[in-house]
Amino acid sequence: MTAAYRKIPRTRTVWICGLSVISALCIFYISIPALKILYSFWQMEKCPLESSRMLNLDNRIDAELDLFSRHDVQTCTSWSAPIIWQGMFEPDDYDQEHKSKGSSVALTVFAIGRYLDAYLKEFLHSSEQHFMLGLPVTYYVFTDTPEKVPDIKLNPQRSLKIIQVERHKRWQDISMMRMKSISEQIESDIRHHSTHVFCFDVDQLFTGRFGPEALGESVALLHAHYYRLPKWLYTYDRNPKSSAYLETGDFYYHAAIFGGSWRSVKALADACHRSIMQDKKNNVEAVWHDESHLNKYLWLHKPSRLLSPEYCWDTSLGNRSDIQVHRLLWAPKYYNKLRIA
Ligand code: UDP
Ligand code: MN
Repeated sequence: MTAAYRKIPRTRTVWICGLSVISALCIFYISIPALKILYSFWQMEKCPLESSRMLNLDNRIDAELDLFSRHDVQTCTSWSAPIIWQGMFEPDDYDQEHKSKGSSVALTVFAIGRYLDAYLKEFLHSSEQHFMLGLPVTYYVFTDTPEKVPDIKLNPQRSLKIIQVERHKRWQDISMMRMKSISEQIESDIRHHSTHVFCFDVDQLFTGRFGPEALGESVALLHAHYYRLPKWLYTYDRNPKSSAYLETGDFYYHAAIFGGSWRSVKALADACHRSIMQDKKNNVEAVWHDESHLNKYLWLHKPSRLLSPEYCWDTSLGNRSDIQVHRLLWAPKYYNKLRIA
């Protein structure tokens, strides 16, 4: 066979491969926005209640929630808990109600290893602009390097406590073991000083009002990436050997924020910690760590209040007509640089 004779099929193969790669790339780039549009067409279920007076009320102001001001989203759950969206509530009413009831809030946040330098200062600074303004707030910063916690000027009625914790070797353990520290701190301190607790990831920034409308007995957050997806796409833990195993659930909750009365947050943290330790004993680890355990717990113990993804939005999802305000945004993630092991 001569070289010239072999050249023709080889050139053709190169062309076919090249065109296939280019077509695959085109399909990929076209399908991302198309998928995003598809997501937004997926209808959320409708709130079945006829009036907000039929809600399971966390407080008397909830009876004034306008469940019908938002036709584009789900405003209550099948167990009659409200889902809080812009336009449903009167901010001043919640401010007044919680001031007069004497509500006070403990905010827990962990900044361990490189996460402290990367995020803590901006997190606290933005929180002072937007989180529960007008109510007494105590920050509980859990860190392995207390000396590096930035000195932030706090508004009146707000204070900050630093709690030294060990730095687990694996980032998965840093994330999961927060449950134990939260529970211990509630028992030894928070329960004597605050009526409510909110637990936050540090890799986020407040950008709008995050006020007392978010306070309730047991509060969970709809994950920005999943609130418009069909249930079969939720990433619950599907391993029957894990104690976080969940076949079906109500929603996919995001572990970056959860809260409630100190009593109910302690119960949640204790239960999640117990099931995390049970998994360790059985040598398994849930697919999304503490988030998988949280989802299991909230399936068994329904939250009394849900926060819409306005309360923790990821701007990479683009503009959505149903997200009318950004109250808190995901900060950029630099896993390669920040996670230690
Ligand atoms: N965290 C930390 N140091 C670490 C890993 C995690 O302080 O090395 C804390 C931090 O508060 C972080 C949270 O654990 O926000 C959860 O981890 P991460 O934000 O990386 O999880 P993701 O948001 O990606 O699920
Ligand atoms: Mn995070």
